Amino acid sequence: MARVARSRFGVFSILCVGVLIGYVIANTNTPSLQFADAKETDNKAASVKTPPSVSSVKATRNRDMYYPGSEDLAPNEMRVTACGTGMPNARPKQAAACWLVELGNGDKFLFDIGTGSAERISAMQIPYNYLNKVFIGHLHSDHFGDLDALYCGGIVANRVVPLEVWGPNSIEPKYGTKAAMDAMEKMLAWDIDTRMGNTDTRGAFLKVTEFPYDAISNVIYEKNGVTIRTIPAIHIFDGCVSFILEWNGLKFCYSSDTFPNKWWLEHTQGADISIHECFIAPESLVEKQGFTPQAALNVGTQIHTSPAQFGKVMAETKPRMAVAYHFFNDFDTSPAVLREVRRTYDGPLALAVDYMVFNVTKDDIKVRMAAVEESVWPQPSTIPLLPPDPKIRRTALSKKMLEGRVVHREVLQQVYDDINKRFGSNEKVPE
Ligand SMILES: [Zn+2]
Ligand SMILES: [Zn+2]
Repeated sequence: MARVARSRFGVFSILCVGVLIGYVIANTNTPSLQFADAKETDNKAASVKTPPSVSSVKATRNRDMYYPGSEDLAPNEMRVTACGTGMPNARPKQAAACWLVELGNGDKFLFDIGTGSAERISAMQIPYNYLNKVFIGHLHSDHFGDLDALYCGGIVANRVVPLEVWGPNSIEPKYGTKAAMDAMEKMLAWDIDTRMGNTDTRGAFLKVTEFPYDAISNVIYEKNGVTIRTIPAIHIFDGCVSFILEWNGLKFCYSSDTFPNKWWLEHTQGADISIHECFIAPESLVEKQGFTPQAALNVGTQIHTSPAQFGKVMAETKPRMAVAYHFFNDFDTSPAVLREVRRTYDGPLALAVDYMVFNVTKDDIKVRMAAVEESVWPQPSTIPLLPPDPKIRRTALSKKMLEGRVVHREVLQQVYDDINKRFGSNEKVPE
């Protein structure tokens, strides 16, 4: 016990000294103090020169962040952004599964749109007309739980084109993507119908393409030099797929959820970027969530791909960049994930968190974090908006509700007058 206590104290002491040194360095922000060590060195060895002073007001030459909306893609470049990397419980740090792929030809695609991810998508400051293609790997809510938010929020945010959704069928129609989308439209009847005739609602339509989940290397999208194929994924129940997008000699692979499988090993070889689920290490499920070892092993290694299995998959497919997602990536969980992955794989690796950005070209893969502005607004429409068409209005207040309105006419008159004056309009307060 004494040895343990002493060694703990030793670690504590080292930590304290480390923190102290870190504090001193962090607070030593004047050039003269920063180079105090160099002057001492000069006394010992005259050949060592003092580094030139760095102005604290000059812009740095290279920035290590991605600022959404500020960088054009090169014609041959692909940008992949993590808009959700976590688990079914959405949390402030990580939304559930969602990946945005942008190509140098202007195309944009969303792969899965799990709970909480709509907020991350909005942070990318892309006009919603471009966010109209969603590919769903399977119908767990952590992979499509924010589709309604993109659908309805997109209408309000000036998406004036239909939302297109691709997703798999299953062993019965009721488990397929078409049935889920029909049900979602029914769920949203009040939302959609209240908007009809009150705003430009050309975006209030869904276009659904359901495809066979068990087809192998099945082309489901081919346009503008982009090909998207699916392979079956294995996850609890039939009706899951993984996606392979190819464009301009670049290959993006995304597993959604799957146990390691032969189709992934065969069809994702040598991908430029390979995003595969990597569930949290079973020990973390026991320690953090009170799972029994049996339940942790079942969920963490049989239903999902554990970190060591993820590593094995990557070692056998050799992507240029392996991306692990689908775990809560924290200071106290990532060491176990990394340890397990490194048992089986020693290649390029990113343990994903939300807002991680990958710029992929044939020569380079740059990995950065996006710098996100929380008070972001939707971008204006890229297509001119149409005025509301009262002829397609589907809803109206009943007589009882109309009679309950309290109209402060003089207040409204002032608001209308102010707006008319400021913007040169001539709007009249309705009777
Ligand atoms: Zn799932
Ligand atoms: Zn999942």
